[in-house]
This record gives sequence, C-alpha cells and structure tokens, in this order.
Amino acid sequence: MNMSRIRSTNSKPEEIVRKYLFSKGFRYRKNVKKLPGCPDIVLPKYKTVIFVNGCFWHKHDCPRFVWPSSNQDYWIPKIQRNIERDRLNAAELQKKGWHIITVWECELKKKNRELRLERLLSEITREDFDNGTNQP
Ligand SMILES: [Zn+2]
Repeated sequence: MNMSRIRSTNSKPEEIVRKYLFSKGFRYRKNVKKLPGCPDIVLPKYKTVIFVNGCFWHKHDCPRFVWPSSNQDYWIPKIQRNIERDRLNAAELQKKGWHIITVWECELKKKNRELRLERLLSEITREDFDNGTNQP
C-alpha cells in the first residue's frame, strides 16, 4: 500500500462534496471544530453534518479497506481508535439533535459519484424519509 496517497484532511473527496452542494445552492460551514468530530461540512439550516470519510482511516466495509500487512501493532490499534472515536462523536452529535450523513470515499469514484451526490441531496432535505425513521 502506498501510504503517501492516503490523505486525512482537506482531501479531494471533501472538496467534491462541497463543490456539488455549493452548486446546488447549499451554504455550509466546514471543519467546524466546536462540534464533536469536527465535521467536514455543516449545514445549520438542516441541522445536518456531513462526514466525508476515507475508507481506510474509518474502516469502511468495502474493498478499499484492507488491514496493512506490515506494522500491524501500529495500525490495528490506530484504526480501532478511529472507529471508537467516530462512534462516540456520532453519539454526541445525535444527542445534540444533529442529523449525521456519512459519505465514503469509494462512493465518490467517478462511476458512483453522480448517484451518490443526488442521494445526498435527499438525505439532507430528508425528502425520502419519514420523520426520524430513516433506518433501512
Ligand atoms: Zn469504501
């Protein structure tokens, strides 16, 4: 694995999502440190935060995530801490009444991107959802 290609902040996937939302007329704040987990995108009007997660750092259940074959003593606890932190941040945000959307890096690959971003709009405005019962 080429570690130099893994970016944790200000990565391109976040910019893809931000540019798309901006083009659709959404106004947001970014990297809001006051909120748990410092969400990549915050839409106060919709009481919604968006995390654009790298599949490796946040251990997405997809082919992009593989445990590194070397330095496992380092990577396994590190990734596990990330997962635990994500879980705690999500719980804190929910307690504060925020709606959380996660967009995964792999969902922004060219062939999936357009559909994912369209779905994001309905997730933000919650057109497809009943009140609060947005579980599959
Ligand atoms: Zn993924």
